[in-house]
Amino acid sequence: LSARSMPEWKKEAYGKAVTFGQRSSLSLQEQRQSLPIYRLKNELIEAVHRNLVLVVIGETGSGKTTQVTQYLAEAGYTAGGKIACTQPRRVAAESVAKRVAEESGCRLGEEVGYCIRFDDRTGPDTVIKYMTDGMLLREIMVDRNLSGYSVIMLDEAHERTIYTDILFGLLKKLIRRRDDLKLIVTSATLDAEKFSGYFFDCNIFTIPGRTFPVEILYAKQPQSDYMDSALRTVLEIHMSEPEGDILLFLTGQEEIDHACSYLHEKMQALGKDAPDLLIYAAYGALPSEMQSKIFEPTPPGKRKVVVATNIAEASITIDGIYYVVDPGFAKVNVYNPKRGLDSLVITPISQASAKQRAGRAGRTGPGKCYRLYTESAYRNEMPPTSTPEIQRINLGWTVLNMKAMGINELGAFGFMDPPAPQALISAMEQLYSLGALDEEGLLTKLGKKMAEFPQEPPLSKMLLASVDLGCSDEIVTIIAMIQTGNVFYRPREKQTQADRKRGNFFQPEGDHITLLTVYQAWKAKQFSGPWCVENFLQISSLRRAQDVRKQLLEIMDRYRLDVVSAGNDLTKVRRAITAGFFFNTARKDPQGGGYRTLADNQQVYIHPSSALFHQQPQWVIYNEIVMTSKEYMREVTAISPAWLVELAPRFYKSIDLAKMSKRKRQERLEPLHDRYNEPNSWRLSKRHG
Ligand code: ADP
Ligand code: MG
Repeated sequence: LSARSMPEWKKEAYGKAVTFGQRSSLSLQEQRQSLPIYRLKNELIEAVHRNLVLVVIGETGSGKTTQVTQYLAEAGYTAGGKIACTQPRRVAAESVAKRVAEESGCRLGEEVGYCIRFDDRTGPDTVIKYMTDGMLLREIMVDRNLSGYSVIMLDEAHERTIYTDILFGLLKKLIRRRDDLKLIVTSATLDAEKFSGYFFDCNIFTIPGRTFPVEILYAKQPQSDYMDSALRTVLEIHMSEPEGDILLFLTGQEEIDHACSYLHEKMQALGKDAPDLLIYAAYGALPSEMQSKIFEPTPPGKRKVVVATNIAEASITIDGIYYVVDPGFAKVNVYNPKRGLDSLVITPISQASAKQRAGRAGRTGPGKCYRLYTESAYRNEMPPTSTPEIQRINLGWTVLNMKAMGINELGAFGFMDPPAPQALISAMEQLYSLGALDEEGLLTKLGKKMAEFPQEPPLSKMLLASVDLGCSDEIVTIIAMIQTGNVFYRPREKQTQADRKRGNFFQPEGDHITLLTVYQAWKAKQFSGPWCVENFLQISSLRRAQDVRKQLLEIMDRYRLDVVSAGNDLTKVRRAITAGFFFNTARKDPQGGGYRTLADNQQVYIHPSSALFHQQPQWVIYNEIVMTSKEYMREVTAISPAWLVELAPRFYKSIDLAKMSKRKRQERLEPLHDRYNEPNSWRLSKRHG
């Protein structure tokens, strides 16, 4: 470990000191009683009795998520219905429900359960139900009165996910219809006034904070490689600072896996010269057995480092953290209007997030936060708060579902922060191209069916097209597989071997069919675990795919959609993929080794891990673009251009023709079809206007 490129630090302290004992050796009940919210239990219950809506604020870790539901259950609220508590993140819903089940002495799925997309762990006895905000939104679509519930707690509302924002609008109307329903909105301090203002100036209940001072250290110079300086900082802390665990924020699974294996290697190289360092990863796609490990107290004499995405910012609380390393970035979903779809982009965090991250170091004792950016960057470049998701992402799913609920005037819905009109228009254009909306902007029969599936409109379109094309059995599997994260396991020390095994599954049609082949092979082996290990496949991802598949089949069964197999005719399958993902078409670029996207002429490349990397077919459809060293297309399938005009006539007959030069038109569109139609729909003319 050299001091050469170590960041230099500038100091600044904030926060106030309050004493607070070690809790890790206490019993569960003692732990509950030591939470700041415990002393306010009766006041809180009283406040809920007296108010229809209550905004609750308090430091992260004060007990809002785990305790409020239990207090209200004890106070008898479950007599009138269930208590729902929404979480923006799946992992949080799952982990908190487990904790609360444990605290209240029941098995998960009995009195306490959780419900997240494709995973329902509730039963007939469930009275406290943790769920993603997306799931509550689906329930309210079916039952606009939420008649099975007596309390709705919109937790972590400051995250401002799109689902929470729509729930805001719907619940605001619902509480006027149902005066027996209690609404609790929990939020970070910053937004409390705004939330209260939105909900008829309701009361704000404050849980006094209990934090230790956190010393803030800024990098003196901007860091050119945040990963490198983050890892160096972690090792520096481990080698030179007193006891206490470390929390490092990175942006996603790939970065986190890389960081963990780097730290493992470094610690191994240091051998006995260094004290033990336990290294844990925390991100959404991690199996839950792994996740519960990060909460276990660190054995004396050792140190733990948790490398996490921003799920550790507020959704989950890990005790014993004294050091936070904050590179200042997070991956967020951002809508790319040119591409018509969202992509995950690494973006600087807001000042509010930075404060929240720093606060994680001051929960057990006075801590330190190492910010890998300069103080001037913090003050002058970071926005004070993040933009709500509704103003950032593709609204295709939202518009489709609001239309399905009969909300046609989206502009008059009463959003807390309305989306940009242009974003609504382009969402409507997308849905129109998919055939979900008609010329008038009203939901079509197809659109109505699409809204029944809890997934992005292009996926639902692909599924419904596959029913007509006679390949829904295969498409259900493919959809399940692309939604479950990485299936192929590629450990650092066995990359060549892993790549060879993966190569065995490759299909000439592309990655979608390759994924299908993997699933079918696993099924042929009776869903065997050892077989997965042998073939370098992630068993947890495959199991999740199996679950997703089952749930999709249930929905199809409910709506009498046929599950038919294409047999050997894989062209059918590729056509169905085209019917949903025609926006994402790319054509081989005669100049330079890459591809050009059809919709916006961007230069893109086939990802090196793709089955088509060596083949480089003329025309491809991709599932998503990931930006690493280049813009790479992920999950690529070879198609015939003639299918585009046939399966997506609304898009490909009218795409940007008015704007395009004659030369460009020839280059990009003539191979598709020899006829052009002028754009004639109001949506498309608005787009050009
Ligand atoms: P808040 O919602 O106010 O941020 P929580 O109710 O989530 O607070 O957490 C209160 C405390 O419960 C945390 O400080 C932590 O000690 C404990 N806790 C929460 N979730 C878990 C878990 N999954 N495993 C172990 N302890 C947990
Ligand atoms: Mg919470």
